[in-house]
Amino acid sequence: MARDNDYRNTTYCPVLDKVEEQKNALEKEIKLAFPRTKIIYNKVKERNSEYHKKFAKIYNNKCAYCGAMWGLLPVESFEVDHFFNEASFPDTTAGRTEAGRMINLAWACISCNRGKRGITIKPPYDDLLNVDNGNIATVFKRDEDYYIQICDTYQDDEFVQQFYDALHLGYETRRLDYLGLQIEGKYQVEKDEECKRKLGETLRILLKKRNRMAVTGGIQ
Ligand SMILES: [Zn+2]
Repeated sequence: MARDNDYRNTTYCPVLDKVEEQKNALEKEIKLAFPRTKIIYNKVKERNSEYHKKFAKIYNNKCAYCGAMWGLLPVESFEVDHFFNEASFPDTTAGRTEAGRMINLAWACISCNRGKRGITIKPPYDDLLNVDNGNIATVFKRDEDYYIQICDTYQDDEFVQQFYDALHLGYETRRLDYLGLQIEGKYQVEKDEECKRKLGETLRILLKKRNRMAVTGGIQ
């Protein structure tokens, strides 16, 4: 998926690359270090663990669903998400192990992760909304005002609409997070001192406005 065609990307942010391979490698690393560990999720969910940081890095520290970035938002605004929610699995050790496998985990902001908890993803939506290979970017797009919208093909799709609503993808906060990331990217590469100063000031104002909005939701 090219940068421009993925609503989660700004002009400057790194793009996702070989996510599945990197997740497999991290799972192997964890299993090697902790041979008795069954539920991989438990090893990556802890904020202070090295695996948490490595996992976030695979996603370029960006929410797999909305593209918001760790660093611009407070550290507590991100979590490890179960792509297929826990309710999709039997409430047994085997079920929890399966739910917590690396393949089912994604890096997400709190707003996306918590909004998504009640959503049970079933075929063909598991493939369509795949965040690791970029398929989700064929379902949603960034409009000219920087809002996330549903692509025309899926306008009448009830499940896509339900997913979009549950994750608050249409919220103003999604737009501000994108703009913040775009300005920050421009700030990093800007050579002209006066421009850099103005970009820094704009970013500061934008983040102040953004942080007044609830981390778990947003203001329309
Ligand atoms: Zn998100």
